[in-house]
Amino acid sequence: MKAFKTTTHSSTRASIGTPVGSAVMEDLIDQPGPVEIRTVAADWEVPLSGVLNLKHPKAVQAGLKDRKEAIKIYAHVVRHPTHGFFLVDTGVSRQFVEDPAGEGVGWVMRKFQAIDKMKAQESTSEIIEAEGVPLNGVFMTHLHLDHVSGLPDIPKDVPIYTGADEPEATLFLNLIAQGTNNNLLDGRPPLQELQFAKDPDGRFEGVNDVFGDGSFFAILTPGHTTGHLSFVARTPAGPELLTGDVCHTRWGWENDVEPGTFLAERQPSIDSLLKLKALSKRHPNMTVKLGHQP
Ligand SMILES: [Zn+2]
Repeated sequence: MKAFKTTTHSSTRASIGTPVGSAVMEDLIDQPGPVEIRTVAADWEVPLSGVLNLKHPKAVQAGLKDRKEAIKIYAHVVRHPTHGFFLVDTGVSRQFVEDPAGEGVGWVMRKFQAIDKMKAQESTSEIIEAEGVPLNGVFMTHLHLDHVSGLPDIPKDVPIYTGADEPEATLFLNLIAQGTNNNLLDGRPPLQELQFAKDPDGRFEGVNDVFGDGSFFAILTPGHTTGHLSFVARTPAGPELLTGDVCHTRWGWENDVEPGTFLAERQPSIDSLLKLKALSKRHPNMTVKLGHQP
């Protein structure tokens, strides 16, 4: 299965972040915090059967049929008062859409991923320029094409953080993702894998206090990919959850229906969705931002 790694780019333990129990996070997150999030959306479309399990009894009952579904590709600007400016996922680089082959996207990806349908309102380079300060790092929910599509605009020396073992994830799609990811990561330092320990409180697969000050947490939420990450930020207006591709669609979130064909392992994917739903119920003040729809 090693042949199906998302990338063979080297990886190392992240130099930041501390594994903590979920109770540590949950005791803190309802207190307003110092992190600001600005979410930037690009437009895309995909088959609904990819982002929603249409065989789920609820989807069958609702009469949902496969169709082209309008979705968003997000980049989240994270501003921390002392650690500075970071991104969660990379958004869309206009250069990537206009010349995917020139950016190293393999022909299978170009043919089947409809890159020409990606429409960036703000190219990743414009997002970075608008901040007016250096980009200190990028936290990847996972290494799929629609999440690395802004990489050509990210300076080569900026650290890229992933979940532990994310580069090893064994989804079949990775076979075709690997060459593209390798090209996009070429010339960059090793991927920095955030570390996770078993959650003593048993609610998640693992939680990491990223800046060590209880303001921004990564949650290990496997299923869509092995090392998939979701994030919780403490903002002045309350906690904000970035689910990543644990849930792509609004309908899926509201009806507890996991993604369709776009996932590595179904049961862990369902478990991760239900765990994030439970988290949001325990913290009703939480703003939830889904993977690909508002
Ligand atoms: Zn995605």
